[in-house]
Parts: sequence; C-alpha cells; structure tokens
Amino acid sequence: MKIFINFDSIDEKLNTVSFANGKICGINKNPLDFPFAEIIDLKGHFLSCGFIDSHTHFLHSALEKSYTNLNHSKNNEDLIELMRKSAKNIGYGYDSSCWSKEPNKNILNEISKTEPIFIIRKDYHSGIANDIAIKKINIPKELQNKETENGIFKGRAFIYLSRTISSQFTDSDREDAFLREEKVAFSKGVTTVHALEGGDGWGYDDIEFMIKKEQDKNNNHLNIILYPQTVNINWVKERNLKRIGGCLLLDGSFGSHTASLLNPYSDAPQKTGELYFSDRALMSFIERSHKSNLQTAFHAIGDKATKQLADIYDKILTKYPSKNSRHRIEHCELATDETLKKFSKNNIFVSVQPVFEYFWGENMYRKRLGNRITNRYRDMIDLGLNLAGGSDFNVTEINPILGIHSAVNHPTPSQRISVKQAYYMFTKNASFLSYDENNIGSIDIGKNADFVILSDNLLKIEKSKIKDIKVISTYRNGSKVFIQ
Ligand SMILES: [Zn+2]
Ligand SMILES: [Zn+2]
Repeated sequence: MKIFINFDSIDEKLNTVSFANGKICGINKNPLDFPFAEIIDLKGHFLSCGFIDSHTHFLHSALEKSYTNLNHSKNNEDLIELMRKSAKNIGYGYDSSCWSKEPNKNILNEISKTEPIFIIRKDYHSGIANDIAIKKINIPKELQNKETENGIFKGRAFIYLSRTISSQFTDSDREDAFLREEKVAFSKGVTTVHALEGGDGWGYDDIEFMIKKEQDKNNNHLNIILYPQTVNINWVKERNLKRIGGCLLLDGSFGSHTASLLNPYSDAPQKTGELYFSDRALMSFIERSHKSNLQTAFHAIGDKATKQLADIYDKILTKYPSKNSRHRIEHCELATDETLKKFSKNNIFVSVQPVFEYFWGENMYRKRLGNRITNRYRDMIDLGLNLAGGSDFNVTEINPILGIHSAVNHPTPSQRISVKQAYYMFTKNASFLSYDENNIGSIDIGKNADFVILSDNLLKIEKSKIKDIKVISTYRNGSKVFIQ
C-alpha cells in the first residue's frame, strides 16, 4: 500500500490518500496506523485524480505526426519551405485564416511537379492537392467540382481525400504511434482519453486496433474509451460496443467556412456553410441507434447544425423517453437559446474544447462571425448541462491545464466559468459521459488509482497564470508513469 501525504487538492478536507492493487483504498487514514505502507510526501503540491480528455482522435492524430508539421507556417512561403525541407508528400496543420493569400495547388506544384503533394488544414476539414495528386487519387465523378479541379478539397471530397491518404498505415505503425503519444498524454496528466476513431475519412482498421486497446484495462497503459465513428450500427453491435459516433459530421468548421450557420458568415456574406445529413437520414440513424441502446455522439459546430441535432434528439427522446441514454453533442460552439434549452431538457451531454477559444476566439471567430457569442459555457452550466472538456487532438494538443485556463479566461467575459467548474470538465463531468463515474473522475475509495500531481494549487493561483502550472508526476492504476 502507498499513502500520499502533505498535499493540496480540490477537496480541502482531504488529508491522505491510500492506494493498493491499482485502486484507491482509503482516504484520510492516519499513516501511523500503517507501518508497512510506503509514505509519499507530496511536499505541498496539488493532488488530483488523473485528467480525462473527452474528445481526441488519439490514434489517428498520433499517426498523423508522421506528416510534415505545418503548424508554424505563417504564409505560403513558409509552407513551401517546410514541405521542401521535410521532403515528405503530406503536410498537416496549416491555418491560413489570417494569411494575406490562401494556399492553392500552384504552390504545391512549385514543391513538386512529379510527386503527389497533399496538405491538410489544421481543423481537418479541408485540404489541397497538387496536379499529380489530383490525377492519382481518382476522385469519383459525384465528388468532382470546380474546387476539386483546382485541387481544393472540402466537405465530402475532403473525406474521400483523407481516406485515400490514411489507407497506407499498418498495425505496427499504429502500435508505435500509440505508445509514443501515450507518453505525451501522461506528461500532461491525462490518464483517460475518449478516442473518436475511424469512419468515413479514416477507415475501420483504426477502430479494430483501438477495440483491443480499450479491452486491455489491467495494465498501466492509457485508459481508452472508444467511440467508433461510423453509421454502421450492425458493425458496432456485432462487436458488442456500447457507443456509436464521435466526430460524425453534421457540418464542418468556422475556419473552412463549412460550419452550418443560420445567418451568413460575416466575412463571406454569400456563405452559410452546409449540413452534411438530411433531417430524415439523421433522424433514422439516431432512432435506430437509440433503440439499440447505443449512446450517440455527433460533431455540430454552427448554430444551424446544433439546432438540427437538438430538434432531432428532442423528437426521439419524446417518442422513446429515457433518463440515462447520455447522448452527446461534440463542440456545440454556436447555439441559440432555444437549442441549448432543448439539449438541457433532454439531458444531452456536451463535449467542448475550451482551447479553441484561447487560439481563435478573439481573432478568427470574430472575423468569421462578427459579434456572435461562441462557446457559451456559462449559459450552458446555468441551464444545468453537463459540460466535459477535450482537446480534439490533434486540432489542439492534449493539455487539460490549458483547457481549464481557457474556460476560466474565456475571451467573452460573460461566458467565463469558475476554476472548480472548469476543473470538473476534465474530471468528474467527463467521467459521466462514458458511464465511468464509479471508476474515474474523482478521488474516492474504489476508484482507479489514477493521479496527477501539479506544481501549483489550481484554486489559489492567479487565474491568468493557470496555463503555467506544471505536471510534476502522473500515476496510472497506482504506478508512476510520468515524472518531470
Ligand atoms: Zn469534430
Ligand atoms: Zn473531433
């Protein structure tokens, strides 16, 4: 048995925590009563249960790290230079929303006229291919349009492009990528991730691989909660999975002007984005999933997409009432009062990514949306919604500390939430999303001995400095898996 002593925590009454065999077995026990226990003095640091990131594309994002990283390109010249230097065919992570000129296929033709070259935007909703690549990937007739002729892939054409690119990975690539990224997650204090994998853009091999990782609970590896991103209900039931969906796209993103809006984009008055599902198709899919006792999850960003999902969940749950179906919405970045009320009425669980506001809230979102208020955390909490936090890795890196910081310091002051509320987004609230509230999400007897030890007290540090808090060490099932 091990006993933590001398720490701060979110619960001021907590003095000691004992754990053995991977589980928490006692709280506030006197260490003197256990002469054979190993006493671990945390020297006044902050002890928390392990963090939960409730929205990652864990495996696929780990695999994508083998692409050229375009995160730091600030213009087309940077992008060309990074691609040339790496000599790889695929680049990922550029964000051209503030560039003077959007990249296009001619830039990629400059990089190579003989090799296929692809680049994928940071939000993973659009990409560009050079002339050789356009020829090679054989775009189906129904997806060809003026944009694809010019090498620009959005919406369904982008999904096709993405699937073509990702069909090249093997299981040994997957294992390497998983283990590499698991270390990164532990270094950020994360012991559980919701892994939204596979699907139209990425295929089924990733899901099969992650089913095995999810079942493998009795070890010190990252705790995986899998969401298979598919609409094939039979496939999911044959494998006895309890959930379906993830970033099943009801619309696109603000960055790519594809998030579906009730009113036009402020910087593109002719555009309102698009809905990827008809009401009928979405209704039928959710109805069948709900009747099969599957928890569902959908990506909806614009206010037209969030409304579509709220209306359909409302219809289904009125027809087939259920107190514990815990259906989810991912992102929910723009939503009307009426939409939020419908989510609340039907007890829909909301999975949000506060770091989006940190990176884009004050610039790109304002440019695209004017004064529309995005990510209304305060309003959602006031309506009684269960809010869980995530990174959408690798749209942003796994980093719950930065997530908590971003929610507390929301660029729109009226939507800021308290440190405790933001902390619960990455712990307790997130545990409810996967029916794991008895296993993870807080320090209680019987729960997994998953912990993170932080350099500073979240409740006492200046709010503007939360992001500077360091992870000192991380424990998974009672074993130390990261030390600073
Ligand atoms: Zn998404
Ligand atoms: Zn996502």
